[in-house]
Amino acid sequence: MSRLRLSHARSASSAVIKLADLYIHIERAVQCRHRPGRGRMLSLEQLSQMVKEHLGLCEYVEGIDYACKWAIEESPLGGRGLIATEDIMAGEVLFVDRPLIHGPRASTALPQGCTVCGNLDSDNFYKCPKCALLLCSEECQNTNVHFNDCSIISRWDNKEPINDVDYNVMSRALTPVRALLLNEDQRLFMGYLQAHTLPQHGAEIRTLKEYFEIPEEEEQLMTLACCALDTNAYQIATPYGKKETSLRGLYPVSGLMNHNCVPNTRYYFNSDLQMTVKAAKPIRCGAEIFSCYSGVLWGTPARRTHLYKTKHFFCKCDRCADPTERGTLLGALKCFSKLCPGYLLPVEPLKTNSVWRCLECDMRVPYANICAIQGALGGLMGSLNFENVGELENFLVDRITKYIPKTNQIVVDLQCRLIWAFGEVEGYRWHVQAIELN
Ligand SMILES: [Zn+2]
Ligand SMILES: [Zn+2]
Ligand SMILES: [Zn+2]
Ligand SMILES: [Zn+2]
Repeated sequence: MSRLRLSHARSASSAVIKLADLYIHIERAVQCRHRPGRGRMLSLEQLSQMVKEHLGLCEYVEGIDYACKWAIEESPLGGRGLIATEDIMAGEVLFVDRPLIHGPRASTALPQGCTVCGNLDSDNFYKCPKCALLLCSEECQNTNVHFNDCSIISRWDNKEPINDVDYNVMSRALTPVRALLLNEDQRLFMGYLQAHTLPQHGAEIRTLKEYFEIPEEEEQLMTLACCALDTNAYQIATPYGKKETSLRGLYPVSGLMNHNCVPNTRYYFNSDLQMTVKAAKPIRCGAEIFSCYSGVLWGTPARRTHLYKTKHFFCKCDRCADPTERGTLLGALKCFSKLCPGYLLPVEPLKTNSVWRCLECDMRVPYANICAIQGALGGLMGSLNFENVGELENFLVDRITKYIPKTNQIVVDLQCRLIWAFGEVEGYRWHVQAIELN
């Protein structure tokens, strides 16, 4: 299984915490579309040409060769998408994408480390005296990466002494700042990607402007990059246990795949940040190629909330429309009646405030009560120390399964964490014994 899917699963609990909070805003919901927002429209031929040139720059990963068995076409979902032009076998490489820009994610909740190597753990962190970006060593300062970042930022006039500039502000804005390093063709390509233009996008650039005088056209390009990132960026997975700044990359070809909660592709990254996308199952000629923008191990309420918050649409795919999620029951809660062993599921899963119903005794539960339970579960998860494997194990075995079914995403999330920890964490290592063979 790819690292990224598991890293999605690891943060499932935070999505649960925010559920109740988000539904308050849902009255103002935008209409449900799989890919809202439009870039300036380019003919499919022109876009295909740009994509071809972009992919042509890629070096093949470890000798994997692939034939292009898809084309950019009108999607049945509206807008454009990747459509298979031949039958594709499970495991075939569809393409190897590389980011137009990449860098730290913008969330204020994330710790920021060295802006060159990503190191989060150093006693020697310092701010570059010219650009205020955080660095861990002279070695990192002397790289081309820093030279490029520094040369953009240090040519802006300061509104505040550079010493007073918050390095967190710099880190969060760094990915769109790097859009200023793109050449003409790359800028054009980025401009033609689909992009949401909501007022909240570009906040990191507005904060940056409190410290620097930024020419208007540079500000515009960086704001455009923020919007393109919001719609198309992928979180780049780091190896388990490695403490590094969490990165995002604007992968333009991957960004062309539309979303489905049962994707027919999977992807992984190599150390050069190349993103290899493979067919996860056979794809028939003419079928659309999908990615999943949310956690595949999350239940429908958490997935739809996450998609709404991050990609601004409500998914209506077959999995979202099926209360049992193809029998996985990832979102199910235990029946409120103490005597009933049944599970509660939403009656109309595509309605965010749907009544829930017990599959066994038919008890109906209003949405507000479900929200209260989900909020309490989120609080319970929030109080856990995920570093403490013993505590997690006890919580899973003795506590949480009293309140929720074993199929619930929280149980699945805890199981994934334990699988990761076993063999890796001190006190839980595997002991391999040599066996003598005669
Ligand atoms: Zn470093
Ligand atoms: Zn610098
Ligand atoms: Zn869906
Ligand atoms: Zn019941």
